[in-house]
Amino acid sequence: MSKAERVLQILKSSIKLDHKRFVVGHARRDPFEALVAIVLSQNTNDRNAIRALEALRERGLLTPEAIEEAEFTVLEEALRPAGMHRQRARRLKELAVAVKDKDLLSMGREELMALPGVGPKTADVFLSFMGLSPEFPIDTHVRRVVSRLSLAKGDYESMRRVLLRAFPPDERVFAHLALIEVGRRWCRPRNPRCGECPLREVCEYANPPQSSSSSSRISTPASHHGGELKGSQD
Ligand code: SF4
Repeated sequence: MSKAERVLQILKSSIKLDHKRFVVGHARRDPFEALVAIVLSQNTNDRNAIRALEALRERGLLTPEAIEEAEFTVLEEALRPAGMHRQRARRLKELAVAVKDKDLLSMGREELMALPGVGPKTADVFLSFMGLSPEFPIDTHVRRVVSRLSLAKGDYESMRRVLLRAFPPDERVFAHLALIEVGRRWCRPRNPRCGECPLREVCEYANPPQSSSSSSRISTPASHHGGELKGSQD
């Protein structure tokens, strides 16, 4: 059994997903609404993104036309819970104009990534959750956990290639969400709770190689491998 297979086996036996803890679990199957939800989750946590999404919904601002026509101040107020509301309002306006006459469901990864505010992670989440292509999105939690496990390392695209090979298409959405849960519950950026983590038996961070245990420990703090994925990757 490969390491990824064992990781998946452990995740399946230990993580029960609650989709309402993720912003995509609050979006209807409407492609524009889903894309907005995913964009809102950039550089904030899902709880704040969900609050902003619901505020947009209350104001009837979940169509490209409504966002394009909305007053900036109204849009900004709705987006306030997610932080950086001015930049987000500007970006959402740009996105609404860019997709107004487009069929999001027929757009490929590169086309999506050419849209304002859409980077590889947002494109991969969209394609995965709309059931268009079984990608493996890498957010800040996934990056930190798979790095510490020594399952994948490097930049977004290197990590993505490894994870696409490691996890079968029909398991990728689950594995992505379950790894986020591991990151939230145990594998925190600082002081990960390895003693309680279900993945500890397969984790190189928790079980550094004997010959270089001290140096391995020192070389894998959150600031090295658990760093945030900033906007350019979102
Ligand atoms: S064992 Fe520790 S370092 Fe490894 S995934 Fe779990 S919390 Fe993170």
